[in-house]
Amino acid sequence: MNPKFLDTTLRDGEQTPGIVLKPEDKVEIAKAIDGLGVDFMEIGSAISSAGEREAIKKICDEKKKGNLNALLLSFARIKKEDITYALNCGVDGVFLVAPTSDIHIKDKLNTTRENVKETITECIEFCKSNGLTVDLCCEDGSRSDINFLKEILNLAVELKIDRLTIADTVGKATDEKISEIFGVLSPVAKSKILLGVHCHDDFGLATANTITAAKNGADVVDVTINGLGERAGNAPLEEVASALKFLYNYDVSIDFKKILTVSKYIEKITGIGIARNKAIVGENAFTHGAGIHVDGILKNPATYEAINPENFNTERKFVLGKLMGRKTVMNVLEEMNIKANDEQFTEIFKKLQFMADKGTRITNFDVRQVANTMLNLSEKREILLKGLTAFSGYVTQPMASVTLLVNGEEKRAISIGNGPVDAAINAIRNICKDIPFEFIGYHVDAISGGSEAGVQVEIKLRSKGKTISARGVGTDIVLASVEAFLNGLNLIVSG
Ligand SMILES: [Zn+2]
Repeated sequence: MNPKFLDTTLRDGEQTPGIVLKPEDKVEIAKAIDGLGVDFMEIGSAISSAGEREAIKKICDEKKKGNLNALLLSFARIKKEDITYALNCGVDGVFLVAPTSDIHIKDKLNTTRENVKETITECIEFCKSNGLTVDLCCEDGSRSDINFLKEILNLAVELKIDRLTIADTVGKATDEKISEIFGVLSPVAKSKILLGVHCHDDFGLATANTITAAKNGADVVDVTINGLGERAGNAPLEEVASALKFLYNYDVSIDFKKILTVSKYIEKITGIGIARNKAIVGENAFTHGAGIHVDGILKNPATYEAINPENFNTERKFVLGKLMGRKTVMNVLEEMNIKANDEQFTEIFKKLQFMADKGTRITNFDVRQVANTMLNLSEKREILLKGLTAFSGYVTQPMASVTLLVNGEEKRAISIGNGPVDAAINAIRNICKDIPFEFIGYHVDAISGGSEAGVQVEIKLRSKGKTISARGVGTDIVLASVEAFLNGLNLIVSG
């Protein structure tokens, strides 16, 4: 069994409150999602605005150039006007949305079931005469009379359209409801039409309901990257694809190795952050905190790990903190080539535990500093800050000038950025071009309230397969960020 994937990040996902995407952003997103191997992409709603149509056209042009593979759809209501706009953008088909629940038919449209069926028929004939493929979506399908859904399915089969999708528009469907609907529709649809499912996450059940639908005969699953979408969002691609493949052994043609990269890219471009504890793509998804877990995992990963992170082209991480075990600290010291005997190690470990108990977020840099002190090692910092000027303002390009002492040699760079911190970091990057690293995390905490508050900046860098964390503290956020960044770079070069 091979469930097909319809990604609607660019339509339902763009309905996430707070997201505004420029046409060129939408093109890049389409390319990224297409690269995951989805079968269909709903890329927008052509009727909604001129900018939206420009984006849809641009994406369709990319497909004509051979840069995209998925079948491209525009959302359309059961109105010829909507379909015409979609047609003029050059899409392959429409995601034709028709309300099927009585509450939508009566209260929203003030019409009758018969009327809806007639309009659907007219619209589908119009689509077909213009060469569009049709995915008819039963809006509020999960709250529709099952007999009416059957009538719509029979109509869809009769009109020879491509797919019929049942939408849980308000996210109130239960496992039982989805099983009932697909249990009834699937035997009728079999080999005549593909059945799709479109779930929302208002009760946190979108993934579970989507999987239930697939188990009960749905051929196409509607998803979005990171679960973006109206209100609480849609079923997340990363969760649905992973559960289908790794828990239910479906043959899933999604490129799992690219999921994390695409997810991060979507997070950045939409500005909608991923919760740290989000399944699969959250920062903590493969991170272990408790010492007892770390000990188990080092003996056999299966003891505390749901899925091997290698499937997603990433690795498991052990976090330093209050609950860390000795093994975690030993690992970090080993990575830094610091050797301590049992007694010294116990002292280092105790000191770090003491700091964590006092509320410090322990970083690799803290481990290094504590070890240096306990072992009387001289601290060798190869990169030192000599000077920093950074400014920002209104209608001014933020800029920073940084002077560093790198192995005794003075080096200076000036850079711009989207803020003074970014500008300063860019200047350091310019000076330290030769150090191989990736900037993967930046986190700021205000230590106290008010504009005079101190800040604590924690950064994460990756270099040669290792993740390194470091901190900077102060009342100046630019300086604290630079300090954290340089602490991290020094750990990389020394270690
Ligand atoms: Zn939706």
